[in-house]
Amino acid sequence: MNNQLLEQPIDSKKRLKALIKSGEKVTTLQIEKIAVKGYEQVIKIIDAKSGLKALIAIHDTTLGPALGGTRIFPYPSFNEAMEDVLRLAKGMTYKSAVSGVGFGGGKSVIIADPKKGKTNEMLMAFGACVDKLGGAYICAEDLGCTVEDVKAIRRATQYVVGLSNDKSSGDPGPFTAWGTFRGIQSVLKKVYGSDSLEGRTIAVQGLGNVGSHLIEHLFWAGANMILSDIDPVKLQRYATQYGAKTVPFDQILKTQCDVLAPCALGAIINDQTIPHFRCRAIAGSANNQLHRDSHANVLRDRGILYAPDFVINAGGLLNVAAELEDNGYHPSGPRYKIHHIYDTLLAIYEIAEKNRESTQHAALSLADYRIKYGIGKRVIPPTFHHSPE
Ligand code: NAD
Repeated sequence: MNNQLLEQPIDSKKRLKALIKSGEKVTTLQIEKIAVKGYEQVIKIIDAKSGLKALIAIHDTTLGPALGGTRIFPYPSFNEAMEDVLRLAKGMTYKSAVSGVGFGGGKSVIIADPKKGKTNEMLMAFGACVDKLGGAYICAEDLGCTVEDVKAIRRATQYVVGLSNDKSSGDPGPFTAWGTFRGIQSVLKKVYGSDSLEGRTIAVQGLGNVGSHLIEHLFWAGANMILSDIDPVKLQRYATQYGAKTVPFDQILKTQCDVLAPCALGAIINDQTIPHFRCRAIAGSANNQLHRDSHANVLRDRGILYAPDFVINAGGLLNVAAELEDNGYHPSGPRYKIHHIYDTLLAIYEIAEKNRESTQHAALSLADYRIKYGIGKRVIPPTFHHSPE
């Protein structure tokens, strides 16, 4: 076992200098540092040779190197890409801090059409930039970025997670789903005094990698399910399999239920939707469910308990982080940690109640507190066990 302590914290500023210097030597690679208040490092990368246009944002590395996926999306402008990468990087800081994984928050975006705009050359140029950050930022799959793409990035850098080999943690969906199930139990416990699913009605929006696993747990726990997906074939298949009711996708948020579980889109809690909610609690895996943080106050005023998304959906992060343990990935480690998402959420509800604040505010304060006092700070550097495929 490697007990070596992290003696020298990763100096991402120094690394950035080296990165910019090396970029100057490679005529096609332009790397620009952009100062953004509240962020440790934000860099813009343009590689004329491969057509790469990308941004890497490192929000905070107080608790460990920044970990966060690489999103590949045809953003209409750099400004829109910047807005997204900043929001996502900050979100990763909070998710990591509350989960206690010993990582910080970062994210990257490549501006390209994931269906026809990305090439191996582009991904490798991106990987070379990640590499020069020396481990201050570790990337992974995200929207538009597949395991195959991560393999291409891996050819240029070791600082990746989520490959397809036997040292990898595999599909995060089932792990996120179990955390979400535990989160649903936590809201039931708080609202009804019992976390039993027996006879409770759960409305699930989205039956993808997370939702499809979640409904299996809900079924075996005795819940009544109301399902919705924009894909009618998939919807019917799962409804038949589990004897569940269905509603059209534009009705699911208005459905009477005990718990609404958003597992598809972000920003579904907004000025337009809140007046229509007919649930006692909202607990689902979707990222960025609140259009604005202040919408959590409106939910509180309406007596709807909200399980903050960055806490309930941390199962995937806990799983992938386990890949970087010094003795390699084993699913039993993240299994127990994901199980305890239930306890973390119950603690957050109690803090929120005591302080007469929203659960979102309580969760953000908890993350800030952990960062301020270095709680969960990494002491053993991450180990990269995989080799290029
Ligand atoms: P996915 O793309 O596999 O599934 C999304 C599903 O939602 C699809 O079946 C899609 O048809 C459906 N959908 C899209 N729009 C819809 C609508 N308007 N109404 C109903 N259904 C709709 O995604 P996923 O991996 O299951 O992730 C679901 C959510 O959880 C996303 O917000 C994702 O960011 C978040 N999340 C996922 C993970 C993970 O481990 N996969 C981890 C953390 C957070």
